[in-house]
Amino acid sequence: MSGQARPANGNARPVTPSLDDPAWLARARRYRRDRLRWLLVDLATGMAVSGLALALRLPVVAQKRIARWLPARWLASASAVLAYAASAWLLGLPSRAWRDLVLEHRYGLSTQRALPWLADQLKALLLALPVEALVGQGVLAAIRRWPRRWWLALSLATAPLAALFSFLFPVVIAPRFNRYRPLEDDALAARLREQAAAAGIDVSEILVADLSRRTRKANAFFAGLGRTRRIVLGDTLLDEFAPDEIAVILAHELGHQVHRDLWRLILVSTAQVTLTAWLAHRLAERAARRYGRQLGLARLDQPAALPLITWLGTLAGLALAPAANACSRRIERQADRFALELTGDADAFIRAMRRLAEQNLHHPDPPWLEHWLFDSHPSIAERIAAARQFARQRRAGRDAEARHP
Ligand SMILES: [Zn+2]
Repeated sequence: MSGQARPANGNARPVTPSLDDPAWLARARRYRRDRLRWLLVDLATGMAVSGLALALRLPVVAQKRIARWLPARWLASASAVLAYAASAWLLGLPSRAWRDLVLEHRYGLSTQRALPWLADQLKALLLALPVEALVGQGVLAAIRRWPRRWWLALSLATAPLAALFSFLFPVVIAPRFNRYRPLEDDALAARLREQAAAAGIDVSEILVADLSRRTRKANAFFAGLGRTRRIVLGDTLLDEFAPDEIAVILAHELGHQVHRDLWRLILVSTAQVTLTAWLAHRLAERAARRYGRQLGLARLDQPAALPLITWLGTLAGLALAPAANACSRRIERQADRFALELTGDADAFIRAMRRLAEQNLHHPDPPWLEHWLFDSHPSIAERIAAARQFARQRRAGRDAEARHP
């Protein structure tokens, strides 16, 4: 955190009137539009290129070559799965580079150069490969054992695997990408702990992450399960937000903790995996029956079938994304409500939301269809309106109490 002194209350700096400035709004709209365009182009080209690879039977060719080099069946199978995962990573690399190294820099939001970015990408690949190999082998084993019910096996395995991942994430994965340290500002730490204690919350660790090594955007999040449970504040947030704004953001994260939102999110992803895998299973069976011979995929229990199943699963997953986003927005609204009730400070909440929008160039009020399809959080305008309504209700409640004590 920057060393400059800050008043114990009130603003670190005044919130500028960006959100009411037409030029700023136009820029935020352009940024949002460019991000969405990137997402759609990334999805479409990804699906087209992998669809073409399937049509050209590249997964089957690769599987045969690998089987020739590696006679041990399990080793050949695992190697084929790794080869598919690495190819998918490589195919997506240019598109991700454009997003992170061109688009984010164009809007002055990124602080990362090309080499550290590439190191991040490689690290992510190395961490993902063993997991993808295990999941891929697991899916193939399930298809072999239960050709018509493998999707159910995958569904049943999702919650335990997601829980294990959530438990390990803050201690195994996150530290590979960022440095985490305890909140050093003693006055602020004491205030935040007091706030949590007042609500009877067993406060988990409050850590600060050096998000500024990649971005100027402010962020805070909760992570971990059981003993690895923690709330993380970005240094980008800590340096720009006033203490009462940080307190209200922390209260939002505490809301997630109190509502056990990690478990709720695991439940949502289990439902998502179940439906996606079931749809992929139905579509893959049909595709194998109809085009199996042309694609070289008459049987689905071979590694070369995984890219087809993944391709169909991605298609099915896209159809389900708006429903998952709706669940997420509901969870976020409840955390906002919790933050307002815990702090009773609608003013600070509104200032924090405005500052968040301003710092992250986040358009406060996107078109409803876009919002409904793509956004995991309520819009800033909606969150501010909810805080205003909360303040009105509080005032009305106090007035009524004053009249009838
Ligand atoms: Zn949240």
